[in-house]
Amino acid sequence: MAEREPVVGVLALQGDVEEHLAALRRAGADARAVKTREQLDALDGLVIPGGESTTVMKLLQRFGMDAPIIDRVQSGMPLWGTCMGMIVAARDVADIRQPTLGVLDVTVRRNAFGRQNESVEIDLDVPALGPGAFPAVFIRAPWIERIGDEVELLASRDGHGVMVRQANVLATSFHPELTGDSRVHAYFLSMVERARAARKKIGKRSTAA
Ligand code: GLN
Repeated sequence: MAEREPVVGVLALQGDVEEHLAALRRAGADARAVKTREQLDALDGLVIPGGESTTVMKLLQRFGMDAPIIDRVQSGMPLWGTCMGMIVAARDVADIRQPTLGVLDVTVRRNAFGRQNESVEIDLDVPALGPGAFPAVFIRAPWIERIGDEVELLASRDGHGVMVRQANVLATSFHPELTGDSRVHAYFLSMVERARAARKKIGKRSTAA
């Protein structure tokens, strides 16, 4: 058993931060709002919430947080992007040149499911979460247009990928933090726990050497 709760940051430059913090706490994390580069160091995992992807990407670059996040993710820290967060994590964006972190090998299409007033909640089949449909809330959501070989498709809506995982990177087009169902938060926390356990093993080996 872990001796402390996993520390999970929610990027708090813009977007729906509070709902994620609350859902992560309910799922058993020490959840913290992250606004600076220094705060990244203490994290076992990071969530990039919904919001506006061009704005957040600009702020990440201005605050010098883009490169450290990429570094941490490449060395195994779990990252979960919801909606805007999926766009920010993606390799590229269809039809527009928009900077992204590029840590998830997919091409996303922004606002693919329609306008703000076409936001919907649908019952989504997500086998990785067990039986029982997941109430998935889509708000001007992106879909996945191209999926890389290393990326696992976890759920689709109308034939388009809306939940994927590539090793330590998870992405959902929808907003699990806006529903009472905490299964995606629990799924992400299990990724974080596994990454922590793996790190501890490596740490022990190098101190023993
Ligand atoms: N439409 C937003 C974007 O393209 C994402 C919407 C959301 O995160 N709810 O950045």
